[in-house]
Amino acid sequence: MARPTLRKFRRIVVKVGSSLLVDSDAGEVRGAWLTALAADLAKLHGEGRELLIVSSGSIALGRSRLKLPRGTLKLEESQAAAAVGQIALARTWSEVLGHHGIGAGQILVTLQDTEERRRYLNARSTIAKLLEWRAVPVINENDTVATNEIRYGDNDRLAARVATMASADLLILLSDIDGLYTAPPGSNPDAKLIPIVESVTSEIEAMAGAAESELSRGGMRTKIEAAKIATTAGTHMLIASGKIEHPLQAIADGGRCTWFLTPANPVTARKRWIAGSLEPKGTLTIDAGAVSALRAGKSLLPAGVIRVDGQFARGDAVVVRGPDTHEIGRGLVAYDAEDAEKIRGRSSGDVMAILGVSGRAEMIHRDDLVVGPSGAFSQN
Ligand code: GLU
Repeated sequence: MARPTLRKFRRIVVKVGSSLLVDSDAGEVRGAWLTALAADLAKLHGEGRELLIVSSGSIALGRSRLKLPRGTLKLEESQAAAAVGQIALARTWSEVLGHHGIGAGQILVTLQDTEERRRYLNARSTIAKLLEWRAVPVINENDTVATNEIRYGDNDRLAARVATMASADLLILLSDIDGLYTAPPGSNPDAKLIPIVESVTSEIEAMAGAAESELSRGGMRTKIEAAKIATTAGTHMLIASGKIEHPLQAIADGGRCTWFLTPANPVTARKRWIAGSLEPKGTLTIDAGAVSALRAGKSLLPAGVIRVDGQFARGDAVVVRGPDTHEIGRGLVAYDAEDAEKIRGRSSGDVMAILGVSGRAEMIHRDDLVVGPSGAFSQN
């Protein structure tokens, strides 16, 4: 497969590591470098692309602001350092993007936010709204409350989960190395950069040494893990050097990097996930009008639902059946079974009055819905 060009991507997650953002001697943000990166981001944004940033640096910045000695921090120390550093980090992003007239929105996530479906859906709709408003979500792990047992710990895998959560079509990991090599390049002069990885095989995994730099937690190993997460879910990924100025422009100009290609596009992979890998927890039976609307690519509204069966929570997978009980599709439902029962057959405008809270207008949003051609789903 040929190397893709940056131009063809619409929604891009850019992960920036601590060692790029923070000068390890001065303990301060590398201002000139960041200003150049922001110019690259503004250019992509100006071309109509949707951007998300996953930025590390809270612990590194907090450490320097608090003048903590070098060495490993205990859990509560890194949590407290992150609390101080994250403020500085958010302010920095807000300033450099604001300079280009771009709003930045801070999102701090924990492992549970991406792994529990309810919370996942919540975070996803916040991200979707920010992108709709043309703001740039700036995301980091919520290091202040993350504990050793329940944390990502590295922003490579976090960025991959964010990219799949946001249905991004490209994840760019800016790193202190310009790609994946056949062997660790520092110790092996014959090591060669691999420009394109079509599939993350065990050979590829074996090439990832445990290269670590002082400030960042992720080595090549977490980047390969990230590649697996991203490409399985339909997101292309690339690793490129962030050590140069204007690193995104360099990628656009065809500079050195490693591409990890996904065979699928984000929507189909996500929809495959919905259609195939989840245990449906209930059934929504819909009227003939809703069946036509769904087949035409629309969302399922409460008004079209005639019957609710099963015990499901918001975000669970449910089967959607037509009036003759034939399976029409599957989707992730936006309401739990109790609320779905209360609002079925009612107009979206009545939802607030019935439930006392303003919920989603759709029972299942079309992005969360897979509608099969007639007969595509088994009758179970
Ligand atoms: N979330 C951590 C921080 O902001 C960084 C994790 C990483 O470097 O990958 O300091």
